[in-house]
Amino acid sequence: MSRPEWVREHVYIGGSWVQPRGDICEVENPATEEVLGWVRCATAADAAEAVEAAAAARAGWGRTTPAYRIGVLRELSAALRDREDLLVDTLVGEVGTPVGLARSSHVGQALAVLDSYADLLETFDFEERIGSSRVLREPAGVVGAITPWNYPLYQLLAKVAPALAAGCPVVAKPAELTPLSAFIVADAAEAIGLPPGVFNLVPGPGSEVGELLSTHPGVDIVSFTGSTRVGRRVAGMAAETVKRVCLELGGKSASLVLPGADVERAVSATVANVMVNSGQTCAAWTRLLVPRSEIDQSLAVAEEAASQHVVGDPRHAATDLGPVISASQRRSILDYIAGAVAEGACLVSGGVERPDELGVGHYVRPTVLTGVSPQSRIAQEEVFGPVLVVLAYADVDEAVVLANATSYGLAGSVWGAHDGQAFAVARRLRTGRVDVNGAAWNPSAPFGGYKQSGNGRELGRWGIEEFLEIKAVQMPEGQRGHR
Ligand code: NAD
Repeated sequence: MSRPEWVREHVYIGGSWVQPRGDICEVENPATEEVLGWVRCATAADAAEAVEAAAAARAGWGRTTPAYRIGVLRELSAALRDREDLLVDTLVGEVGTPVGLARSSHVGQALAVLDSYADLLETFDFEERIGSSRVLREPAGVVGAITPWNYPLYQLLAKVAPALAAGCPVVAKPAELTPLSAFIVADAAEAIGLPPGVFNLVPGPGSEVGELLSTHPGVDIVSFTGSTRVGRRVAGMAAETVKRVCLELGGKSASLVLPGADVERAVSATVANVMVNSGQTCAAWTRLLVPRSEIDQSLAVAEEAASQHVVGDPRHAATDLGPVISASQRRSILDYIAGAVAEGACLVSGGVERPDELGVGHYVRPTVLTGVSPQSRIAQEEVFGPVLVVLAYADVDEAVVLANATSYGLAGSVWGAHDGQAFAVARRLRTGRVDVNGAAWNPSAPFGGYKQSGNGRELGRWGIEEFLEIKAVQMPEGQRGHR
């Protein structure tokens, strides 16, 4: 029997819960393979109504003061904190993420991002003077927010918080596999009395609702997080109406261990990083680059670190790795592993067998491979599972070439004997984020990709700027001083 919060017959449009015209879409619990709950999907016509509701709210919301919006963001944060336990349970259920990670990362980091925008607005400058011009940063209009299933709450709030902060209304389309947490955000928006049309929620198929948001003339910006394949398509569709498109796409990030670095620390941190959320993290460091002279020690540390990961029921506090999201995702990951082994890869840890005693659920063993060519599929493509590839390099120049030699450029890490050595190499990486020597996450620093990892930057002031238009008002010389 599903919890009532996991059975959703209505979608949220214009401040009301309305009956959509789409099919029922069941949500599977990937740990049990049972139905967790269901939502009734929006159709393209429902999504068009949501866009119209957002367009009707645009001028009013855009005219609110930053001080007012700070209050709204703080109320939304408080309303979500009131629902924290429900959010955690929902994310454990729909994503299969372990309960500790659901609380600290999926919910904790999402709320940290929301709060960071309330803080940022306190000092954000929506106007500056350049010579005789007053340069205004104005809300860019209706935002279509399309999000993936791997961190559904975080990805949603990483768009909704800056959009609302900027003065833009949002039409949100969550991923089909994980729509339930987004409904809790709509509940919170309703509970705080967010003006009608400022936040709208239309779950449904990407091929229908996502395409409507990418093509509707009433949507000014599409903010998309998902695969590079779909991102390309969204950008193509949006070109017809010359929408701004912010793309946050896939990755194949490197963890580069420099000569002299603490191998034990770097390698075990890299293994832990890859296994987070069962490897379903866009910024995961899925390629470990180590000096050739350190390969044996690195593989020994990686094997030991991978074997320490407890795979199992995501509701148990001791579990490190839950299932992956679906049967097809599991098959795809196992195909990558089997394909690499067939091409001669050496399996350091894990493999295609089911983890012991887990007969049900989409589980994959924490897997480490080596002995593969840097050009092979497993070393180039996003596997999106708990799979690490270890590559050896001869010198630092070769390491930098290898780190940059994929079509992606989302994240990475550099481990050095000291921070300065690692920072110098971080500068040479064509990637949007680099962590030096295990540095901590910063919700106010920009996040986004080079190359085919996307063209946008979320978080911090860069996140707000994605949702602002810039207007130059030329003032007569004598009026320069007036604001
Ligand atoms: P996906 O591209 O399959 O789907 C993402 C969203 O797009 C979903 O809501 C889906 O319904 C929608 N969609 C699908 N087809 C569409 C279409 N034709 N038009 C419009 N929308 C459509 O991605 P996914 O499998 O849900 O998520 C995994 C991917 O997301 C991985 O590649 C991962 O790297 C990426 N990701 C990137 C970031 C980032 O910030 N760069 C963060 C998380 C995930």
